[in-house]
Amino acid sequence: MAEFSIIDTYFNRRNACSADLGVGDDSALLTPPPQQQLAICADTLVAGRHFPLETDPHAIGWKSVAVNLSDIAAMGAKPHSILLALSLPQIDHDWLKGFSQGLHDCCDQFGVSLIGGDTTQSPHLTITVTALGWIEAGKAVTRSGAQPGDLVCVSGTVGDAAFGLQHLGHPLQKRLDYPTPRCLLGQQLKGLASSMIDVSDGLAQDLGHILDASGVGAVLHLEKLPIDPEAAKLEQEKQWHLALAGGDDYELCFTISSQNYQKLLQQQLDVNLTIIGEITQNLGLTFLQNGVNCSIQFQGYQHFA
Ligand code: ADP
Ligand code: MG
Repeated sequence: MAEFSIIDTYFNRRNACSADLGVGDDSALLTPPPQQQLAICADTLVAGRHFPLETDPHAIGWKSVAVNLSDIAAMGAKPHSILLALSLPQIDHDWLKGFSQGLHDCCDQFGVSLIGGDTTQSPHLTITVTALGWIEAGKAVTRSGAQPGDLVCVSGTVGDAAFGLQHLGHPLQKRLDYPTPRCLLGQQLKGLASSMIDVSDGLAQDLGHILDASGVGAVLHLEKLPIDPEAAKLEQEKQWHLALAGGDDYELCFTISSQNYQKLLQQQLDVNLTIIGEITQNLGLTFLQNGVNCSIQFQGYQHFA
């Protein structure tokens, strides 16, 4: 089966397309809505590095889309469509069937469509998804707007995916394999949050990016970290380590004034929020345990480390 037949069988869904022109021509065509900026990002998943080779292909398909929609959400943008660049060592129809189904399932869940891509043969299974979204010009929530006095908040629970990785077969493995991009929350935070990032490399490291970009510091209250009841059965130190250094949660971490936080709570939210700290003028990240300084060692995920 040739490249075109793979595209046609697994990736061209003629009906559901959010673009003016999708899969099948030299480029896809989109009409930018008036006064909107394009938010665009890409993420690569490499077999054996980002997921074990034997991972369920459906989960790989889901996650390759979800991690990108999470980046679009973290800007406050509305996801619109994706492109898929796929490098395959060989043609494995069972794998392609599961993978494409997972990818389309995630697209359908969040109202985006696959509008193009590239398919090549290569010794390594590599998946690069590019996601596109729209946001009113000038309204994107960046990493650089945190102000002293702002609250530091996080959605959902953190450390679940890392717990799932350490306990394969446990129900929390679902959080590792099928992350939920916080697409609605991201858009609700537009105009309210002062800065935002999605938690992919561990909360402490990702919050650190906000602090660096904003030229501020933060205090975090360890006892407030939102931890899943299953992970909360571990000893305290381990829980905090997972919550602060575990990657792959794809929750949103944001800073917001208390006034805007009250406005946010007036909206219908589809995920719990937790206030975990405050932004300070003093640089660096300080950990408090019930108000008392606490030094805790952690490291987030770093490529090439
Ligand atoms: P070209 O040679 O003009 O670059 P291709 O032969 O690579 O075009 O692709 C043909 C069409 O199929 C294009 O519209 C392209 O966007 C689309 N396409 C290729 N691979 C994929 C894929 N994995 N998923 C979705 N669309 C794809
Ligand atoms: Mg061409």
